[in-house]
Amino acid sequence: MGMVQNEKIISFIRSLYNTDAFIPLHEPTFSDLEKEYVNEAIDSTFVSSVGGFVNRFEKEFADFVGAKYAVAVVNGTAALHTALLVSGVLPDDEVITQPLTFVATCNAISYCGATPVFVDVDEDTMGLSPIFLRTFLAQETIQKNGECVDKKTSKVIRACVPMHTFGNPTRIEAIAEVCQEFNISLVEDAAESLGSFRKNQHTGTFGALGVFSFNGNKIMTTGGGGMLVTDNQEIAQKAKHLTTTAKVPHKWNFDHNQIGYNYRMPNLNAALGCAQLVKLPEFLRSKRALASQYEEFFETVENCHFVTESSGSKSNYWLNTLKFNDAGERDSFLKSANDSGVMSRPCWTLMHELPMYAHYQRDDELLVSRNLSEKIVNIPSSPILERTTDTL
Ligand SMILES: *Cc1c(COP(=O)(O)O)cnc(C)c1O
Repeated sequence: MGMVQNEKIISFIRSLYNTDAFIPLHEPTFSDLEKEYVNEAIDSTFVSSVGGFVNRFEKEFADFVGAKYAVAVVNGTAALHTALLVSGVLPDDEVITQPLTFVATCNAISYCGATPVFVDVDEDTMGLSPIFLRTFLAQETIQKNGECVDKKTSKVIRACVPMHTFGNPTRIEAIAEVCQEFNISLVEDAAESLGSFRKNQHTGTFGALGVFSFNGNKIMTTGGGGMLVTDNQEIAQKAKHLTTTAKVPHKWNFDHNQIGYNYRMPNLNAALGCAQLVKLPEFLRSKRALASQYEEFFETVENCHFVTESSGSKSNYWLNTLKFNDAGERDSFLKSANDSGVMSRPCWTLMHELPMYAHYQRDDELLVSRNLSEKIVNIPSSPILERTTDTL
C-alpha cells in the first residue's frame, strides 16, 4: 500500500508545480524590483555596513511585524546570539529550548558560554509546550533572589527560546506567561515564522526580543541576513551598539566601549530585503493557497496526514509538513520522493542527540519530539506565483 500511496503523492506534487524537472524544497523568487534596488545600492557605492537601505529595511520590517524597533544583522544566528546577550545571558547560565529545532538555536546559546536545557514540544504545533515548560520549572527549579535556579545543576535559567517550527506558531502567549512567572527572559526564535500570527499578533513580538532569518531558503531572503525586533528602546539601542562593533558614535573618532561584534547587515543585502518585503504578502497568499491544496489532497491519502495550523494560529506555511503513521512508511516515502526528483526531507536530528549537546539537562524522555522526528517529512513548499507582466 505504501508504494502506491507514495506514487500518488509524488504525482500530485508534480501536477501542482507542473513540471517533470527536479522540484526543490523551497526556492527563492525574485522579480525586477530586487534588481532595481540592488543596482541602486551599487550605484550609490554604499554596499557595506552603512546606507539608506538598512535603515529603510529596519523601519519597514518593524512596521510589518508590529514591533517598535528592528535591528538588521548578518544572519539569523547572529540575531539569536545578540538577543541572548542583551537579555543578560551570562557564561554558565542555562537557556531552555526545544530539542526539535535547527542547530543555530543551540549554537547561539553556546556562543554566550551558556548551555541548553531541553523541554519537549506539543504534538500539534511542533513547538515548545507551555505545559511541559511549567511542569519542568515547577519541579526542577527554585527562585533565589529573583532568579530561576536549576536545582540539579545550581545554574541560573536566564532565558527561554521557543521556536515556531516550519512557520507553525507555538502557544507563545502561554509560554510568555510561564516565563514571566518564573523570572525568565523570553527570546522567540521566529526565524521560520515571518508572516505567522498567534491570536492575531505577529510571532516574534511576544517576548522581550524576537529573531528572524533571511537565509536563502526562508520565506523571504536577503541572501544572508537576520533581524531582531523589540518594543523596548533600550534593548534596541543595546542590540544596535553590540552589532556595530560597540563603536561610540562620533564624527571622526574611533572609540569602542566594550567587546562588540561586526554583525551589521550590509546595505546590499538590505536592498534585496526591501524588495522582498514588498513581495512578501504575495508569497504568503500563494503559500496559503498551496497549503490548502495539500490539505484537501491529503484527506484522500491513508498512511499520512497534512499538518495544519492549530486553532488560534495563522501559519505562513513556510515548509509544508506530513506526518506518517510510522517511521517505516515515512522512510519509504522519503526514498521514493527523493529518487524521483521531488525533494523531501525529514526534520533535523534532535538537538539532544547531537554529540555536542548530548550531555545537558533535559526534561524526561522528550517523547513527543522523538515521535515527531521519526514520522514527519517536509515536502516542496516554494510559492507557486501567478505569472504577471511584472515577472515576465
Ligand atoms: C534559519 C534558522 C535560524 C537562523 O539561520 P541563519 O541561517 O543564521 O540565518 C535560526 N533558527 C532556526 C530555527 C532557523 O530555521
